[in-house]
Amino acid sequence: QAKIAGKGRFSFFSHELNQLALERQELEVELQKAILNEELELNYQPQIHMKSGKLYGVEALARWNHPKFGAVSPGKFIPLAEECGLIGDLSRWALKTACRQMSVWRNKGIAIPTISVNLSPLNFHNIDLCNLIVSELEHYNLQSSDLTLELTESVLLDTNPSTMQVLHDIHSQGIGFSIDDFGTGYSSLSYLRKIPIKELKLDSSFVSEIEVDGTSQALSRAVLQIGESLKLDVVAEGIESNGQFNILKGQGYHVAQGFLFSKPLNSIEIEAWLKNSQTEIMTPKEEEYVV
Ligand code: C2E
Ligand code: MG
Ligand code: MG
Ligand code: MG
Repeated sequence: QAKIAGKGRFSFFSHELNQLALERQELEVELQKAILNEELELNYQPQIHMKSGKLYGVEALARWNHPKFGAVSPGKFIPLAEECGLIGDLSRWALKTACRQMSVWRNKGIAIPTISVNLSPLNFHNIDLCNLIVSELEHYNLQSSDLTLELTESVLLDTNPSTMQVLHDIHSQGIGFSIDDFGTGYSSLSYLRKIPIKELKLDSSFVSEIEVDGTSQALSRAVLQIGESLKLDVVAEGIESNGQFNILKGQGYHVAQGFLFSKPLNSIEIEAWLKNSQTEIMTPKEEEYVV
């Protein structure tokens, strides 16, 4: 009896696993097609300079709306792209699309100060990354300050030989780095001496607890102090409430990003948002060091 149950159980699981493997494989093929056919979309989330209320920049976030699967979240398709060797193509698409959109805005007289594009640690294994970025900037007539690259702490600890080279190449072109999800990585601060960085983004997990958890509040203050002593802009992301905003502003945070202002919007929606919210745009001079 037990043996039969055991057998049935086993085949149940193996069926499930098969199903998962099939779905994954299908998703992989679909993702490859989506990148090729430009079926992914970038959305843009405003970043607000806290003291002036002006627009400091936008973060580009990839969206995939599949005809059959519906909306697939980046939390799902980014790791998939990393695992199946598509992240290089995906990032190239994101960089190109972000640069193209910036030039469209420029030509319409909408002077978005900078666009932040998220990159995967694996992208820095590609020794051509810098050339690729520079050629997109040139192609769309943009300056290096028009683009900001978001990377996670893991990139700075990566021992792959090309990573340091690529980081330095990109920096020498005048393109700024932002450390995303800061505070959740490896808490080794020594890399901040090795790689010149423009900006820190406090991880949203600190923000979401800041009204109820004294430790989160203390840690967000500590992150701000690290950023200020290194003359970096410090961004708080995932701000959903006025309470969170007021605490972070009180602590001296420079830039705010989150649903409180706007969710990520497509290029048309964000133009409407800028108009309706009457948000002014920071000028390059104001941008220098935002404190
Ligand atoms: P991230 O770079 O840390 O982006 C912030 C995430 O928080 C985004 O999720 C954004 O939609 C969400 N968010 C913004 N404001 C709020 C808020 O007030 N409350 C809450 N609960 N969430 C908020 P999203 O778009 O789902 O992206 C998730 C992650 O996927 C990103 O985290 C980033 O690591 C990755 N990702 C997205 N697009 C790309 C891309 O083009 N390339 C790469 N390599 N990674 C990407
Ligand atoms: Mg990001
Ligand atoms: Mg991230
Ligand atoms: Mg983040």
